[in-house]
Amino acid sequence: MKTIKVIIAGPRGRMGREAVKMVQETEHFHLEAVLDRKHNGKVLSDIEGFQGVNADIYTDIDECFSQHQADVFIDLTTPETGYIHTKKALESGIRPVVGTTGFTDSQLAELKELAEEKELGCIIAPNFAIGAVLMMKFSQMAAKYFQDVEIIELHHDRKLDAPSGTAVKTAQMIAEEREAKKQGHPEEKETIQGARGAVIDGMHIHSVRLPGLIAHQQVMFGADGQTLSIRHDSYNRASFMSGVRICVETVMKVETLVYGLENILD
Ligand code: NAP
Repeated sequence: MKTIKVIIAGPRGRMGREAVKMVQETEHFHLEAVLDRKHNGKVLSDIEGFQGVNADIYTDIDECFSQHQADVFIDLTTPETGYIHTKKALESGIRPVVGTTGFTDSQLAELKELAEEKELGCIIAPNFAIGAVLMMKFSQMAAKYFQDVEIIELHHDRKLDAPSGTAVKTAQMIAEEREAKKQGHPEEKETIQGARGAVIDGMHIHSVRLPGLIAHQQVMFGADGQTLSIRHDSYNRASFMSGVRICVETVMKVETLVYGLENILD
């Protein structure tokens, strides 16, 4: 199997650390370099927790790409930075795998256009956990039979964006099967603003942020005399890495932007 050369942005982050480990442990992946906002010119092994990982650290993306010929660029940073990185990677002929969440629709459309123009694969996956993808698919299936639904997403309190990318994606997938319907009483009024959460196509999304949580979501359907809850829980960040590995392998075979892991799983 041909070795896939990878650059990771955000290696000191909670997701980035797991991604470095996953790339190191995967025989046909090679960690070329990392992009960080600190420690320019050092190697990763100089930093605590990365003993034996001899990847060069860059703070400047142009310098990083000019020094290293990589196949895949993994971004695990913040929405603003991740968007700039993804654009740069595509412009430089490197295929992005993006776990960073919070891109706007217009940013996604622009990146899709760029990927197609460059005929390069780009995978943006708001949730790399296979179980979460199944939770979304099962919710889409259930929406054929249950029109009434609300989504509760729960994350750690360092998450920057709300609602989560997974919740938005779930609502979009449900909307493909469900006729738009305003959930709740037609004349309901919020006595405190925000009480009913965010709304997509009439579906309400409630965002919980607490320390102790990682990434969790419950999709709750209701009908006469019954409810159906479909729930997924990620208890650590290693739960996302099998999905990242699949994305790195798949991005080498596609020539467009794919949004969502569910679109590449058989
Ligand atoms: P985190 O622990 O805060 O890590 C983010 C890392 O990005 C930090 O190391 C940060 O550096 C770095 N960073 C920020 N700006 C940068 C820049 N300009 N250049 C280079 N590095 C930069 O966050 P996390 O929990 O790992 O999450 C990272 C992203 O992945 C978030 O968008 C999160 O929502 C998303 N996420 C996705 C999934 C999924 O399955 N797709 C799962 C979990 C999280 P400093 O340490 O210097 O601040």
